Amino acid sequence: MQCQTVLPGTECTFWGKQGCIFSEGSCQTIVENCEGCERIVEGSIGRVCSVYPAPAKKWSLGICNFATHVKVEIKTEELKINPLKASKKAAGKKK
Ligand code: SF4
Repeated sequence: MQCQTVLPGTECTFWGKQGCIFSEGSCQTIVENCEGCERIVEGSIGRVCSVYPAPAKKWSLGICNFATHVKVEIKTEELKINPLKASKKAAGKKK
């Protein structure tokens, strides 16, 4: 159903016949870590997140996985194999 308080007219799974069923009956405003995220929208209570109702809770678990301004760095070991040596090594094993 459509929200009628914080983001009027926006489809929201938390809005039901009794109103907002999210904890405390409302979305919560964004936190400092959200600054720069493209999902921030202006609501009737201030700036809120368009995809998650409790930004503080989201960040308490680590980096927000919906954030557009922060990327999770996955460090991968760069394989340093010389293709020529690798092919010689493989050829040597065939004996
Ligand atoms: S997607 Fe995450 S970082 Fe962006 S506004 Fe929402 S809670 Fe904040």
